[in-house]
Amino acid sequence: MDSEKVIARDNDYVLHTYNRNPIVIEKGHGLHAYGPEGQSYLDFTSGIGVNSLGYCDLNWAEAVSKQAHKLQHTSNLYYTSPCSKLAKRLCRRTGMSKVFFGNSGAEANEGAIKAARKYSFDHYGEGRDQIITLVNSFHGRTIATLTATGQDTFHHYFGPFNEGFLYTPAGDIEALTKLVDKHTCAVMLELVQGEGGVVPLDQEFVQAVRALCDEKDLVLIVDEVQTGVGRTGTFLACEQFNLRPDIVTLAKGLGGGLPIGAVLVSEKVAAGMGPGSHGSTFGGNPVVCAGANVVLERLDESFLAGVREHAAQLRAGLERLPHVKGVTGLGLMLGIQFEDGINAADVLAACRERGLLVLTAKTRLRLLPPLVVTAHDIERALVILDEVLCGLDPVQS
Ligand SMILES: *Cc1c(COP(=O)(O)O)cnc(C)c1O
Repeated sequence: MDSEKVIARDNDYVLHTYNRNPIVIEKGHGLHAYGPEGQSYLDFTSGIGVNSLGYCDLNWAEAVSKQAHKLQHTSNLYYTSPCSKLAKRLCRRTGMSKVFFGNSGAEANEGAIKAARKYSFDHYGEGRDQIITLVNSFHGRTIATLTATGQDTFHHYFGPFNEGFLYTPAGDIEALTKLVDKHTCAVMLELVQGEGGVVPLDQEFVQAVRALCDEKDLVLIVDEVQTGVGRTGTFLACEQFNLRPDIVTLAKGLGGGLPIGAVLVSEKVAAGMGPGSHGSTFGGNPVVCAGANVVLERLDESFLAGVREHAAQLRAGLERLPHVKGVTGLGLMLGIQFEDGINAADVLAACRERGLLVLTAKTRLRLLPPLVVTAHDIERALVILDEVLCGLDPVQS
């Protein structure tokens, strides 16, 4: 079916909750996506940080299809090997004690909120249930995670929203300390605010939050749904902040393209989450876990060193482009801030016309290439971005 028909049919029947790019992607290989009429795109989005090994990595596709032929699902009433293997790998890799598997980032954060409140209830009783999150954060689209998201634009239409969430500006430890009282149970944050514009937190602030959580016995939840699984050049972004969280959530890149979310918890938090405390029909699905196991196997130290090397190359190249005011982010999670008058959405559209797929976050252009990106791919993307930016005159306002 040609692109025009696919788009028309989608527009007729799929709820218009997204503004989509007017292109159809039919297949992909590595960094390259292809359309039905033979269009070819260099993809620096990874499906928003999901396709960590690029499109249809051979080992990943083989592991997934082999598992699909063997056993596609059982329910959590029984054990399967791919699930326990992934759990062991994740715990060993992160130093966390136990993991719960769900199907998305929002669901992982829901699990984290529940586990934090359960810890607080078990140790301090009722009424100590408030969770402090950061202004400009993003934690998901379910009612509780929308509420946790510290952006007013998300707090309309769908109320009543949950009680028990408070917001504080990133970087201001005094403001955070003032919010903590006998009702506070947890602090939840992203180390690099992704949807908020690719804004990393300050090291000192993060250390101060950890110290405050230790002092008041608050659960520190780190949302690594976007930053985790090698995206920032280390397995967890926490490693670069010298941070030991009490709960860390993962999702996007973990399954290499299949839906999965994970809530990793420390021993003290794990203790409260016994039988009946949480559940998911699909969570820990063996096909998805088989794919995630390939991702984890691939992300050894030498692979991550390559991610850091390519990230440095990309960042240096971006900083040299015309109209670029600054580059933010960590590893292969980068935001590009333009001079006044250059609109990131215009740059995105012009890149697409030239066969390069990129993202935006707030006013910035955002790049999340697959972790398998090569020096050659980066050179090509930089050439296209350079052509696009050279052709753009800042709009005088
Ligand atoms: C994408 C994202 C989420 C939501 O993940 P979904 O899989 O869309 O539910 C939550 N937190 C962060 C930091 C994210 O980037």
